Amino acid sequence: MTMDEMKTRILAGERRALARAITLVESGRADHRAQATALLESLRGHGKQALRIGLSGTPGVGKSTFIEAFGMMLTAQGLKVAVLAVDPSSSRSGGSILGDKTRMERLSRAPGAFIRPSPNQSHLGGVARRTREAIDLCEAAGFDVVLIETVGVGQSETVVAEMSDLFLLLLAPAGGDELQGVKRGIMEIADLILVNKADGDLKPAATRTCADYAGALRLLRKRVQDPDGFPKAMTVSALEEQGLARVWDEIQTLMEWRRSEGHFDRRRAHQARHWFEAELREGLLARLRREPVKGAMDALGAQVESGDIGAAAAAEELLGTYLQISRAEDGSA
Ligand code: GDP
Repeated sequence: MTMDEMKTRILAGERRALARAITLVESGRADHRAQATALLESLRGHGKQALRIGLSGTPGVGKSTFIEAFGMMLTAQGLKVAVLAVDPSSSRSGGSILGDKTRMERLSRAPGAFIRPSPNQSHLGGVARRTREAIDLCEAAGFDVVLIETVGVGQSETVVAEMSDLFLLLLAPAGGDELQGVKRGIMEIADLILVNKADGDLKPAATRTCADYAGALRLLRKRVQDPDGFPKAMTVSALEEQGLARVWDEIQTLMEWRRSEGHFDRRRAHQARHWFEAELREGLLARLRREPVKGAMDALGAQVESGDIGAAAAAEELLGTYLQISRAEDGSA
């Protein structure tokens, strides 16, 4: 498939072309990277603006059950739904928490749905770039909703929140009356807290847990991008498909408000700037690790380790060396 064909097919919403393009953005090869960047630029401004929904929760809380039921509800309404995963475990242990092929079997067969497991990448930065670019590709392919799923461990929630229009946190009913060990930082990025498994014997505990979180949310500082009543806690049962329509209603209420107040566009603009700077940092570091600067980088790194020079002074010196070499190269070119 040529790049032009790929572009045409993605814009026509062909899932196979979309899958191939995502494979391209995941590739570590330099020629693939150049092609991926060119493809993404050629698609810019085409397609549609999807709603990007981040979703996090610990293993076993019901993420795949929720996404499947929620996704089925949306596709039944004629919406096109893509699911992408950011799985911080797959890089470290080789075993993935989210990549299991048997997850979301019903949704994966639904027309209008597209599911892509997390790639095996060595670091969160690589997964972050791939996911951002996959989101762009899904938008070019005309998806209405892009769900970005991650496991509630480490920093991946923040990374996902930084590429989402809103963030859902899925929790299980707590046994006692204590709040579960949800870090304050995660509470602060959540727009909706969904206490799942509000069914059968677990229903009273879910209701209690939900009230506890509603109380905790009220104690957080009010954010400018929230209308009254948000962030909000509510109970759902992914298994019995209860409360899902309400979740969608709340999402739309929040998004309509943010769009009309300009927060939606501002958030995206801010995120774009953030990722630009992240790419710059990574790109600059990659260059410094290559010849002819690599030797100086290694030497200064060793001096920093042994305490002969401070981190700031060493960085300053290396950047000076880099600029000198660049200028010399420009002069000789
Ligand atoms: P994930 O690891 O977060 O993706 O969680 P799963 O979706 O795989 O669900 C873990 C377990 O919880 C499975 O046995 C599900 O059947 C169960 N589960 C998920 N949602 C619900 C729910 O709403 N109610 C009940 N009772 N069980 C649920």
